[in-house]
Amino acid sequence: MDIQVTNNYKETQKIGERLAGIIKPPVILALLADLGGGKTTFTQGLAKGLGIKNIITSPTFVLEKIYNIPKKKYDLHHYDLYRIEPDDILIDEILENAKDNIVVIEWAEKIIDYLPKKNVIKIKFSITKDDKRKIKIS
Ligand code: ADP
Ligand code: MG
Repeated sequence: MDIQVTNNYKETQKIGERLAGIIKPPVILALLADLGGGKTTFTQGLAKGLGIKNIITSPTFVLEKIYNIPKKKYDLHHYDLYRIEPDDILIDEILENAKDNIVVIEWAEKIIDYLPKKNVIKIKFSITKDDKRKIKIS
């Protein structure tokens, strides 16, 4: 368990960027937070750390976005479950993708009970004050 406090969005992106350097498939990053907690901001840093040049936005209306990771044989799958009630088919798809890709999930609360114990990193964002966020990684 690791708790960090960030004072602005750039510091939150840095946490994602640093984590990018130490993860590889199979892995699920389960992002837990309220709206505006910093899940997408974190994912922007993660993508940057993976060498992805695309502009990262929440896949709220498309559910999933897939980004090619330069020089790697695996991709980054970015899910946002905000607008949906995940069914078995979607959960299976996510678990299948996580076997050989990096999967990051916004609003992972919705499927947290179905995630395996192994290869899941939970990242909880709490808004403590204005631009401050407490980020708990476990
Ligand atoms: P989420 O995806 O969790 O809904 P976003 O990352 O889209 O959240 O939005 C977070 C918002 O809060 C952004 O507008 C960002 O600039 C702002 N913000 C302010 N301080 C921070 C911080 N310390 N970490 C992350 N985001 C911050
Ligand atoms: Mg978001």
